[in-house]
Amino acid sequence: MTPFTYARATDAAHAIGLASAGMQPRYLGGGTNLVDLMRETVERPQTLVDVSGLSRDIALRDDRSLMIGAAATNTALAADQAVREHYPLLSRAILAGASGQIRNMATVGGNILQRTRCTYFYDTASRCNKRVPQAGCDALEGHNRIHAILGAPLVGLPSCVATHPSDMCVALAALGAIIHLQSPDGMRLMPLVDLHRLPEGRPELDTVLSAHELITAVELPDSFTGARAAYRKIRDRSSYAFALVSVAALLEVRDGIVTKIRLALGGVAHKPWRAWRAEASLRGQRSSPAAFAHAAEAELANAMPLRDNGFKIELARRAIIATLTGLAEDPA
Ligand code: SF4
Repeated sequence: MTPFTYARATDAAHAIGLASAGMQPRYLGGGTNLVDLMRETVERPQTLVDVSGLSRDIALRDDRSLMIGAAATNTALAADQAVREHYPLLSRAILAGASGQIRNMATVGGNILQRTRCTYFYDTASRCNKRVPQAGCDALEGHNRIHAILGAPLVGLPSCVATHPSDMCVALAALGAIIHLQSPDGMRLMPLVDLHRLPEGRPELDTVLSAHELITAVELPDSFTGARAAYRKIRDRSSYAFALVSVAALLEVRDGIVTKIRLALGGVAHKPWRAWRAEASLRGQRSSPAAFAHAAEAELANAMPLRDNGFKIELARRAIIATLTGLAEDPA
């Protein structure tokens, strides 16, 4: 492991000051991903700024919006009574990820900023545009069963077909989460769906965050009263595995008509994938398996399979249909 300095921040301004003063800084939450990356020398920060002592508050406001401190652990968030009652989709998605031990350590901010689990990214003997810009991508012609089917051009620009690994972020994308950010230039708010990037020629950049910008909180502006929610994760084994495909869905049907629909996919793209096309296809339509199938096909129309992952297109189609059909038929 490359030598580094370590400092523990007392608040967001202190953290930003420490990062601004340090060489090649990285913010450290629970360390469940970053420490692994440092051990493998994939990441070599010279300055670690520990932000795990910042706000862990989880607060339901009078309008039922929710504020989550970025240092809240995944376990605390999933178990929080207000989250379970008003945002069960979020709780279920978190509990579908990682292991209990990891969730105990992992923070909300760190979960959002975790990096891909593409095996070539971790293997420093492989070519990887994300680890070394312009180096090439061994996943394109290699074992790419777990890789992306959406949003990654396969020719031209330096490619990356990695997927974002977070379950929590798929739920946050469906829930319309707003990320609170602080940097040397001040504070700003950003929809989660705009935070992560598609590769677009710069796959080394996972997000649009500016230098030393820190996630301080996550806001959920709407509890979707009346909508039913589900998180469906399909993976190679029943626990402690990343999604091949996952679906986060919120659905409200009144008099047979879809009145509210939110849909996001995981395991299919470089970022949590909000299924805007499927949502647009369904909104105001009569609820039926045929309508759900039409929506899934609209969303996946531009999917591009690699050698090993063509099955993900059909898997995603079926997962969308099954999830929405289950919600529509739920008598609860
Ligand atoms: Fe690297 Fe992305 Fe290619 Fe994986 S898919 S080897 S992360 S460039």
